[in-house]
Amino acid sequence: MHEGVPAYLAQLLVQQYGEEIAERIAAGYEAQRAVTLRANPLKADRQEARLALEAQGIEVSPVSWYDDAMIVHGAREDAITALEIYERGGVYLQSLSSMIPPVLLGAKPGENVLDMAAAPGGKTTQIAALTGNRAMITACEMNKIRADRLRYNVQRQGASRVTVMNVDSRSLDDLFSFDRILLDAPCSGSGTVQLGNPRSKGQFNKANLDKTTKMQETLLLKALRLLRPGCEMIYSTCSVLAQENENIVTKVLKKGNAEVVPLDLTGFESVPQLPVTIPGTLCVCPDELYEGFFVAKIRRKK
Ligand code: SAM
Repeated sequence: MHEGVPAYLAQLLVQQYGEEIAERIAAGYEAQRAVTLRANPLKADRQEARLALEAQGIEVSPVSWYDDAMIVHGAREDAITALEIYERGGVYLQSLSSMIPPVLLGAKPGENVLDMAAAPGGKTTQIAALTGNRAMITACEMNKIRADRLRYNVQRQGASRVTVMNVDSRSLDDLFSFDRILLDAPCSGSGTVQLGNPRSKGQFNKANLDKTTKMQETLLLKALRLLRPGCEMIYSTCSVLAQENENIVTKVLKKGNAEVVPLDLTGFESVPQLPVTIPGTLCVCPDELYEGFFVAKIRRKK
């Protein structure tokens, strides 16, 4: 295992995946990740966005599973944030993996959607874009500074039917009920480690992981109480550790009246995948294009 990978994380990866796959994950941690973004059709459609980028000499290429997503070639994030199209919310910098949960959530116009851990708002605003501002979205964020950032992004992206709540989602009243829920849970970030970037290494130790998994379990249980019977939700993390992914889903489903719905991954064949212990869930392997990420769809039984 690459010596830069934090020791506790390396140990968990080898335990879970074995040496060979753990090495593949470590190679993903070493990779220089591409800059990616999505056009925001609430402000600029993809053609307009692409032309605005190309006019500044910035080349982009498409992504098979999401027409608004683009891979940027030969330009860094600061070259994008300096552009007028960025300033007015026509494009949003977002990792490709982070765009997957809203696409698979499949929210429809007219639905009441809850985003339980929403800041800085990449996925909230993506759901707004995917539904053409025709879903009612409640976006919760417990951290005050991050909630302010979420409000700012929601406004800049023109996501006009989003209500931002600066609350702990665990304290939401069970009398609320939603047609669809995204729980993009706080996690260790084991999918997003970049070895060249000391800020991305995280704090990997047992105490932190125990604290995080407790929060994930409580939030997922809460989500299933807030979801209308018969409706579907997405549980996602930017972690590749089963402790935060399949184990949480399995634990909560044992307690609750819910089941895993196999993801329809048609079109996602180019996404690098890791083995999962629950068939029909997705764990993305980090590489030059993708961060490590986990996605599961869950339905509350009627
Ligand atoms: N979904 C976001 C996006 O796409 O931009 C990223 C979410 S980030 C993984 C998790 C967020 O959840 C953090 O901003 C964190 O402050 C927030 N959070 C953690 N625990 C929470 C809780 N109990 N209730 C509400 N927000 C929470």
